[in-house]
Amino acid sequence: MAFVFSPQLPAALPIAGSNALFPARRVYCVGRNYADHAREMGALAQAEGREPPFFFMKPGDAVVSGAGELAIAYPPLTNNLHHEVELVVALGAGGAAVAVDRAKDLIFGYTVGLDLTRRDIQAKAKEKGHPWDMGKGFDQSAVAGVIQPVAQVGHPAGGRIWLTVNGQTRQDGDLAAMSWKVADIIANLSTMVQLEAGDLIYTGTPAGVGPLLRGDVLEAGVDGVVTLRARIV
Ligand code: MN
Repeated sequence: MAFVFSPQLPAALPIAGSNALFPARRVYCVGRNYADHAREMGALAQAEGREPPFFFMKPGDAVVSGAGELAIAYPPLTNNLHHEVELVVALGAGGAAVAVDRAKDLIFGYTVGLDLTRRDIQAKAKEKGHPWDMGKGFDQSAVAGVIQPVAQVGHPAGGRIWLTVNGQTRQDGDLAAMSWKVADIIANLSTMVQLEAGDLIYTGTPAGVGPLLRGDVLEAGVDGVVTLRARIV
């Protein structure tokens, strides 16, 4: 049987040192995974609240990636588009109910990403007890840099994670401050869903989130791992 129309190809992320592309499947995001960001949002961090990590999702086709400067369209229905710089984990294998000490076996590589957020829509949803989806899962909301394979960068557990807008530092944190570490996140998430190769996990943002305007140029990075550059158009 043929499809009535051609199925869409997945979003593709470049891989450092390879001509092959990484096909994105699902995009999972961890909420409030750095205490300083949780505080700036008026909430407890996961560790402070002694609660397990919580997750939300973006559509796989919300991923924008590439090696050069990425052009990101300012999305509709917001006056408060926010940047959140995050370490992104790219899975090369799947699993369910994965043990913490096996979780890193699933990882293909890492990159830096932006969990772009329509903060005004998210705030309204929180207030009403509605889902966050339209605040978080809009088109081009999951920006990602070039994937760095584990073989090249290992498993970064500490080091600066930062973001500048027009050359000015907005976010400057350290991976070591993550409340839930990458292995814990994978293990926990894999109790809820079957993880698969191609899944991306955004691991939360440090403090300093803030608004973006058309024309802004963002640079973001995880020291020793990767940088990315994007322009809001
Ligand atoms: Mn985030």
